[in-house]
Amino acid sequence: MGTLQLPSFLLTSHKFQKPFQSRSTKSASHSSRIHQSSLDISRPASAKPEMLDVDLRWHDHRPGARPTEYDVVVIGCGPSGLRLAEQAARRCLRVCCVDPSPLAAWPNNYGVWVDEFAAMGLDPFLDKTWPMTAVIVDDRRTKYLNRPYGRISRNGLKTHLLQECTSHGVEFHQAKAWEVKHNEFSSAISCSSGYELKANLVVDATGFSSPFIEYDKKRNHGYQIAHGILAEVNCHPFDLDKMLLMDWRDSHMDSEPYLRPQNSKTPTFLYAMPLNSTLIFLEETSLVSRPILSYTEIKRRMTARLRHLGIKLKRVIEDEKCLIPMGGPLPKIPQSTMAIGGAAGLVHPSTGYMVVRGLELAPVIAEAMVECLGSTRMVRGRQLRHKMWSSLWTGERKRAREFYWFGMEMLLRLDLKGTRSFFDAFFDLDNYCWEGFLSSRLSLRELLLLSLYLFGNASSKCKWDIVSKCPVPFVRMAGNLAIQST
Ligand SMILES: Cc1cc2nc3c(=O)[nH]c(=O)nc-3n(C[C@H](O)[C@H](O)[C@H](O)COP(=O)(O)OP(=O)(O)OC[C@H]3O[C@@H](n4cnc5c(N)ncnc54)[C@H](O)[C@@H]3O)c2cc1C
Repeated sequence: MGTLQLPSFLLTSHKFQKPFQSRSTKSASHSSRIHQSSLDISRPASAKPEMLDVDLRWHDHRPGARPTEYDVVVIGCGPSGLRLAEQAARRCLRVCCVDPSPLAAWPNNYGVWVDEFAAMGLDPFLDKTWPMTAVIVDDRRTKYLNRPYGRISRNGLKTHLLQECTSHGVEFHQAKAWEVKHNEFSSAISCSSGYELKANLVVDATGFSSPFIEYDKKRNHGYQIAHGILAEVNCHPFDLDKMLLMDWRDSHMDSEPYLRPQNSKTPTFLYAMPLNSTLIFLEETSLVSRPILSYTEIKRRMTARLRHLGIKLKRVIEDEKCLIPMGGPLPKIPQSTMAIGGAAGLVHPSTGYMVVRGLELAPVIAEAMVECLGSTRMVRGRQLRHKMWSSLWTGERKRAREFYWFGMEMLLRLDLKGTRSFFDAFFDLDNYCWEGFLSSRLSLRELLLLSLYLFGNASSKCKWDIVSKCPVPFVRMAGNLAIQST
């Protein structure tokens, strides 16, 4: 990575084009013929998750079975939990994973930047990639970003992680963890199966609504909320070689003006993965809101947008409600239960992305685990907790997160006009900067320079919004940065 200096903020020369002009105009002309009933986007997807075909090693609870105590018990078989279990077991730790359904397919549609996945050697587990990404700022301006995007093969990646876990000796216990009790040097997890698991270290990987992680500050999150569908459609206006990261157009509200006032205040955008000419994943997304924008409102906006684009749903294959808490304080650090993923506050506070972060930090945490729990080490209790949490939340990561949290607070306060102006300037940054920001790769100094630059180049309205509406979050960020630097 190069170092960032102000002169390197050269603007990339995106060509401003009318977004997907010919086809979207054509589609829009069909819109008056599409009826509400043809846009039934509330149809539930199949309720039962698919079961993956992997031969797991199960925890043996018969008396006398070994091990009686694990080095690590990971609660939750989401992407973060499984990757951590696999990485810890690879380093010869005795690991058990508890989940009510370890073999169930993951439910979410995950999108990631291809370079991030390739850096971990996981790019074979992308089932679709797009060489370019598009951001539609408004009816006149589209930016084409030269950064490939991919859709994770949920079943492929989960099967791979389960197989790797099994081949490195991870055991599984099918149950819900109910309670975690900590003694001085070990912990006990009571499970819905009636069994109790014992471990030197318990890691909570249960996602955002973790019941085991403590907070010592008020949790004033923002929320990303979205309604997504994987659908067979009559046609769609999007280029097959471009993933649509954001479409901030609101022309679909011309014919449904009652939607406009709230959208101007709390805007939503369309995120779309065109899989082929008639199969597409579509998601109407509120980047961040507080209080949470209503789900019904989001669905209404999506219906209006699809109607305007001439997209007629033939079959909804899957639907998902996405609700991601963003920003807010980190969990209490340290605490007896370690965490990873959503439970550890790893979600990017300005974007809602997290899956890569959990996957890439798992080896870092596993390394710290082995330094404490490996066969020649005897670090336990308070020292262990301290070492684990500080391996995850280093000073630099905490400071960068303060910054991203401030970014979220700023986005919360921008209306549609301000949001467009922000992303217009943001995606004109040098690739190193915007990619680094989205992938949490920038140092604090780089983040500071980036924000000064963005502020300097924002519209006067956007500047005024930031100055007049963000002093409280700014003071909080500055205060927290000062505390963390001492
Ligand atoms: C709909 C949706 C779409 C998303 N899309 C993206 C995206 O495109 N890109 C991105 O980067 N991020 C995305 N995210 C954000 C984030 O990456 C995901 O939420 C991700 O799944 C979090 O991973 P995790 O491993 O922390 O937890 P989860 O994936 O939530 O997994 C938690 C696991 O813990 C288990 N569990 C829960 N409670 C217990 C218990 N008491 N005992 C035992 N097991 C338990 C659950 O069964 C589950 O298997 C999305 C989030 C949502 C909700």
